[in-house]
Amino acid sequence: MVMQNYDYLDEVHICPHCKEEMSCCEAPQIHVGDGLGWGSDVLFICLNDACSLFLKGWENIDSKYGHHASYRYMELPRSKEGNVMMVGNKDAFKASVIDKEAIRRQNKRYHEEKEAIAALDTCVAEKNLTPVLTLLLDEAANREHRRRAMGYLLQLNDLSCIDPIRNHQFRDSSFEQETNLIVDQLLKNNFKKECPYCLELIKKQAKKCKHCQADL
Ligand SMILES: [Zn+2]
Ligand SMILES: [Zn+2]
Repeated sequence: MVMQNYDYLDEVHICPHCKEEMSCCEAPQIHVGDGLGWGSDVLFICLNDACSLFLKGWENIDSKYGHHASYRYMELPRSKEGNVMMVGNKDAFKASVIDKEAIRRQNKRYHEEKEAIAALDTCVAEKNLTPVLTLLLDEAANREHRRRAMGYLLQLNDLSCIDPIRNHQFRDSSFEQETNLIVDQLLKNNFKKECPYCLELIKKQAKKCKHCQADL
């Protein structure tokens, strides 16, 4: 994955014509003017159908050029310079509005993955289970890193990994099976088992669960 600049996620652009917040849209893959495009992956466009520029545009273009079209007000990221985009209907650009929250989430996940990978080297020395679980339970993370993280579970010998692992829905059943084998080994190493009724950890030789009182 390529590192990208997501500064535009925090930008708020207000349309000077209607005072509404403009939408952040994917820039169309077209060449304008000298063929350089907009020089940006995203554009801020006022998609308000009640915007005065958009409403007046139909008449202006019709009387000037005889076309059925109008304008949308547009600004580039990090700029307040006004531009207009010609549109043939009111739905143009609406499908290219960017889901900023989704990009924020992806970006956050990506940075957490990077941090966790860097922290794996020292996780055993520092008895730090967090990066191991972050990677192992992140279905979008790189498989090799997840597998490497899995390999530290026994060395860390931290039983608190069991709950999050049991509660996780692994998309890949081979991953789930391997992780379950490790958890079984971890329980054995610590002379523990899971109560079949309440799933709490109890002593391997217990005849009664101390959590749910069930007879075993
Ligand atoms: Zn507007
Ligand atoms: Zn129990």
